[in-house]
Amino acid sequence: MSNNNNKKNKSTKCVHSGNLVDEKYFGNISPLYPSITYDFIKSDVYPRYFNTPNQMGVCKKISDLENAELSLLFGSGLGAIATTMLSLLKQGDHVILQDSLYGGTINLVNTEFKKFGIEHSYVDVNDKKKLDSSLKKNSKVIYVESPSNPLLNIVDLSSISDFAKSNRLISVIDNTFASPINQNPIDVGIDLVIHSATKYLGGHSDILAGSVSGSKEKIEVIKSSGLNFGSNISEYTAWMLERSIKTLKIRVNAQNDNALNLAKFLSEHNFVSKVFYPGLENHKNHDIAKIQMHGFGGMLSFELNSSIDPIKFVSDLKIIKPTMSLAGVESTITSPALSSHKKMDPDIRRELGISDNLLRFSVGIEDFEDLMLDLDNALTKNGK
Ligand SMILES: *Cc1c(COP(=O)(O)O)cnc(C)c1O
Repeated sequence: MSNNNNKKNKSTKCVHSGNLVDEKYFGNISPLYPSITYDFIKSDVYPRYFNTPNQMGVCKKISDLENAELSLLFGSGLGAIATTMLSLLKQGDHVILQDSLYGGTINLVNTEFKKFGIEHSYVDVNDKKKLDSSLKKNSKVIYVESPSNPLLNIVDLSSISDFAKSNRLISVIDNTFASPINQNPIDVGIDLVIHSATKYLGGHSDILAGSVSGSKEKIEVIKSSGLNFGSNISEYTAWMLERSIKTLKIRVNAQNDNALNLAKFLSEHNFVSKVFYPGLENHKNHDIAKIQMHGFGGMLSFELNSSIDPIKFVSDLKIIKPTMSLAGVESTITSPALSSHKKMDPDIRRELGISDNLLRFSVGIEDFEDLMLDLDNALTKNGK
């Protein structure tokens, strides 16, 4: 495994960190070791113990990108979230959660935590007073997501880290929307960084995977429980993920540029009433985003004028595809009210700012001009 990549710049880390050396045939890329069993006299390797060559190689790459000591890979983003939380928490503990989180995470907390006697509170973590009053004697973990889905709210990560440190909490962030290119929470003192690698790390809509990164001490805790939970990744997927991450920085940078330009274009469009993008000066958390992010990301949301039917609009797009998932090289769009937040009480949904005309747009790496025209044509066709 190649070492000393931590001082390198990000694209160099993407390409080189953690790659396996083919000592037998001298091939250029990492060999794939799909073996699930190894010589027991010479080796303690077993895929569920997180210690196979391909898993360890990709983990080194992710650790270097997130400035972490160690990382672990899982079979999905939710596998990473569930294993991390259930490794850190026990019966009687309390966890503080940001009030807008990925739907799957909310379902995990609301349905499973109760069974294990783990208490939780949802709170607007940017409101210092509310955050302070959510603290209990048994609080153990604070869990946030930034930028959040679907309104791209930004959490002030330095203040979360200070709050966690002064109250002896473990701080955990779901960094999926930012990717390690745009945000490195460990640099501002967050303890553990989770990714749904299904999204930007994978980037081609063909991999389901997850990761957690942090200090050796905390990752060892997750590892020792994690091998009991068994939500591990396959070696084939790990190998695919290594290949994907090699282009992470150039993909994400192209997505950042496209998203910023499209956010500006949509803001000025007559048939669009609101745009949510942390890179826009009128975004409510733009100032925090500017401080803690290296780029504003490839995700944005916008509200169509009330006279436009969102389904008709989406059906008239030719390049941008109506798809639930996100962060692929291809642009995709979804209606939170009709997909991820469909089961939510409509009044609560609207209160959270998720209107029926809101669309969440995952900007791909296509040419800006083509995406802009695709949007403009569908808007003009449906607008009045
Ligand atoms: C998709 C996603 C997850 C869950 O990841 P899976 O790989 O689908 O299990 C978690 N958090 C965020 C922000 C996501 O977008």
